[in-house]
Amino acid sequence: MARKPPTDPRVDTLAAECGVTPISFSSPIPPLTWCHYCGFLATSRDHIVPNSVGGVDAWWNLAPSCNQCNVAKADRQECSCLFCLRAMALWHLGFRRDGKTRAEKRRLKKLKELS
Ligand SMILES: [Zn+2]
Ligand SMILES: [Zn+2]
Repeated sequence: MARKPPTDPRVDTLAAECGVTPISFSSPIPPLTWCHYCGFLATSRDHIVPNSVGGVDAWWNLAPSCNQCNVAKADRQECSCLFCLRAMALWHLGFRRDGKTRAEKRRLKKLKELS
């Protein structure tokens, strides 16, 4: 298991092996991307480790997902493919948000821009 987050989605072997189309948090989901969980058309981004427990917005913690799977995540069994396991392992290793909410980060960024 990797000790550091992968850097380049284009050469990421786990994504390819697990059939995950790497997606970024800021750019739109490419057309004809399939839900990682059910294979339906993906319309949203699912955080493998949820934001609420410190999951980051990095591509290695994001899987394309249909709305239904994204909403149903609470009731769903955890996916145990290597791509998802790696995201969880990295979270365990400390690659997580350190208690800062996105709103707080935005506010800090704005403060920096102003100063
Ligand atoms: Zn789905
Ligand atoms: Zn998975």
